[in-house]
Amino acid sequence: IVRMDKVNKHFGKLHVMQDIDLEVAPGEVVVIIGASGSGKSTLIRCVNGLEEFQGGRIVVDGNELLPNGKSGKSLQTIRTEVGMVFQQFNLFPHLSVLDNVTLAPMKVRNWPRDKALETARKLLARVGIEDQADKYPGQLSGGQQQRVALARALAMGPRLMLFDEPTSALDPEMIGEVLDAMRELANEGMTMMIVTHEMGFAREVADRVIFVHGGRIVEQGPPEEVFDHPRHERTQSFLSRVL
Ligand code: ATP
Ligand code: MG
Repeated sequence: IVRMDKVNKHFGKLHVMQDIDLEVAPGEVVVIIGASGSGKSTLIRCVNGLEEFQGGRIVVDGNELLPNGKSGKSLQTIRTEVGMVFQQFNLFPHLSVLDNVTLAPMKVRNWPRDKALETARKLLARVGIEDQADKYPGQLSGGQQQRVALARALAMGPRLMLFDEPTSALDPEMIGEVLDAMRELANEGMTMMIVTHEMGFAREVADRVIFVHGGRIVEQGPPEEVFDHPRHERTQSFLSRVL
């Protein structure tokens, strides 16, 4: 469902993505790990067109993203088909939980309010916060807010979900509830690309773990291989620091 061919990206002189080749199959859960500044966020932000790149191409569900912002209308299509959850929840503070979740389907998909509300309530129940529907984001815990963000992304019926350190801003006791919701999503067959430092979670849900260093994919494989028998010395030293 995702295919990156020789994707290269520079920030000025900094070469932050170097010949990235990556394919993600439907239903696959890919976890991206690596040190701070290695290019993990940049990589997944390129997949939904949040970052431009300068060389190569990216195809998401048949829609092609081209270098230097020449993607045309496939960019819009990709943004509506790909859901993203960030470290900072990015909820609309002036909208209730329910309105946060119904906004995009009503605006972008032109759903009638009834249909959007019904879907939103189901999704909120699915992530375990149906009782918070009428509150505002500021009245919720971080873990609850992040589950609203997840429900909001799911409301568009995404074909692919991207996560960039979804639990990094959370207090430890709230990390579990967000990871549980993500685990459930993975078990339901959602295609997911996840940047996380939660190595236990990665080991459990990932079909494939990708280690990024200096803008390159240095090593990848099933979690047992990458975590227990890393081949590359960079991977070994990274894991020895985080495990
Ligand atoms: P972290 O774990 O800290 O989130 P990361 O692996 O997600 O790190 P990126 O955010 O992808 O790393 O950044 C990769 C490199 O690109 C870093 O050296 C960063 O400083 C640089 N970079 C990121 N965004 C920009 C930008 N908008 N302008 C210039 N340089 C940037
Ligand atoms: Mg990052």
